[in-house]
Amino acid sequence: MEALIVVDVQNDFCPGGALEVAEGDAVVEPINRLAEAAPFVVATRDWHPADHWSFEERGGPWPVHCVRGTPGAELHPGVDRSQIDAIVDTGRDPDRPGYSGFEDTGLEQLLREHGVDTVHVAGLALDYCVKATALDAKRAGFDVVVHRDATRAVEVTPGDGERAVEELREAGVDVVDG
Ligand SMILES: [Zn+2]
Repeated sequence: MEALIVVDVQNDFCPGGALEVAEGDAVVEPINRLAEAAPFVVATRDWHPADHWSFEERGGPWPVHCVRGTPGAELHPGVDRSQIDAIVDTGRDPDRPGYSGFEDTGLEQLLREHGVDTVHVAGLALDYCVKATALDAKRAGFDVVVHRDATRAVEVTPGDGERAVEELREAGVDVVDG
């Protein structure tokens, strides 16, 4: 049984958002195609309290983004909701990292309950939440495939996207085009 995890395709990570990923919205169409082919689809949302550690005002690396309940935290309007079977909210603890969809969410158990053995991962951003989610899926024992054309990197430092791909491959994650 295969599942698709759609990571954080939210307004704040798309052009015009608080923590814009270049071409972030370009993942929407490829993700909708992957979702059509996937028997089980989980979307994650970065879903922060207003005082999350990662915000600059608390000394963190990021501007305020994806505060739960705000328009910026909503899924991009182009994401086909009818394909999504479950939504998992991440980054809810003000003091925990919150990059991985598997952290404190019950996602692993949800996948097991549905008989999932292979996890496809796409979304935003490749060098943070997509990477962390794919690595945790691999550690949990799933076969993991990351879809390069259905993800984009933040690239705080140029090359972070390619370095993430290297790290994923070294961990045994399959990174494919498309
Ligand atoms: Zn965040």
